[in-house]
Amino acid sequence: MFLIDTHTHLYKEEFDDDRDAAIKRANDLGITTFVIPAIDSTYTSAMDNLKDNYPGQMYLMTGLHPTQVKPDSYTEELGHVADRLKEKSFSAVGEIGIDLHWDQSTLDIQQEAFKTQIQWAKKNKLPIVIHCRDAFDETFEVLESEKDEHLHGVFHCFTGNLEQAKRAISFNLKLGIGGIATFKNGKIDQFLNEIPLKDIVLETDAPYLAPAPHRGKRNESAYLMKVAQKVARIYNLPLEDVAKITSASARTVFNLN
Ligand SMILES: [Zn+2]
Repeated sequence: MFLIDTHTHLYKEEFDDDRDAAIKRANDLGITTFVIPAIDSTYTSAMDNLKDNYPGQMYLMTGLHPTQVKPDSYTEELGHVADRLKEKSFSAVGEIGIDLHWDQSTLDIQQEAFKTQIQWAKKNKLPIVIHCRDAFDETFEVLESEKDEHLHGVFHCFTGNLEQAKRAISFNLKLGIGGIATFKNGKIDQFLNEIPLKDIVLETDAPYLAPAPHRGKRNESAYLMKVAQKVARIYNLPLEDVAKITSASARTVFNLN
């Protein structure tokens, strides 16, 4: 059985002490493909090293994370993303989007950076990976203005309600489902089975958002199995079916071999 972790920050310093072991723990469970979201230029060399060190397993994104869209640096950071897109091939533009949890004062430039990066993704025929926190209306507003036949990707770490889930899917997006589906108060487990299984992909967001029973600890890609098991219970399907269907969707969205 194979699973794909469609969102894992394995290059981050939280894995500096045991990266090999953490990746081996995932590999031993059949998790051998990892899609790696970007944050900003400070992690570029760590991401490139990760890809070189684990050949055939790591699929990189490029993009500027909404919490890193700052008035004095975002123009330069966007230039870095544009340069990366010219130099190499990537599996997605992400993570990009709007985060009003940490800073509401940057909404204007967050929307501008989001829009610009969606346009680059479409021009390069790449999917987008969206980070949206406390900003559903603002995120949907940008998506509405960019909606066309090239717009596609993943609504990462989906935390909304059924109506918002359907709206996200209407933009040709899959829902990224991770640790929150295992939380007692996570809510999405209440309605997720009303969404076709083919419209979701599995993710950890490691080192963040560890699933139960590891909640509050460092997350790692091996815990994707906990997410897959929970999704199997929510849909009342064998784990093998969940693995097959969600992996097929992930391969299609990110154009993986
Ligand atoms: Zn992330």
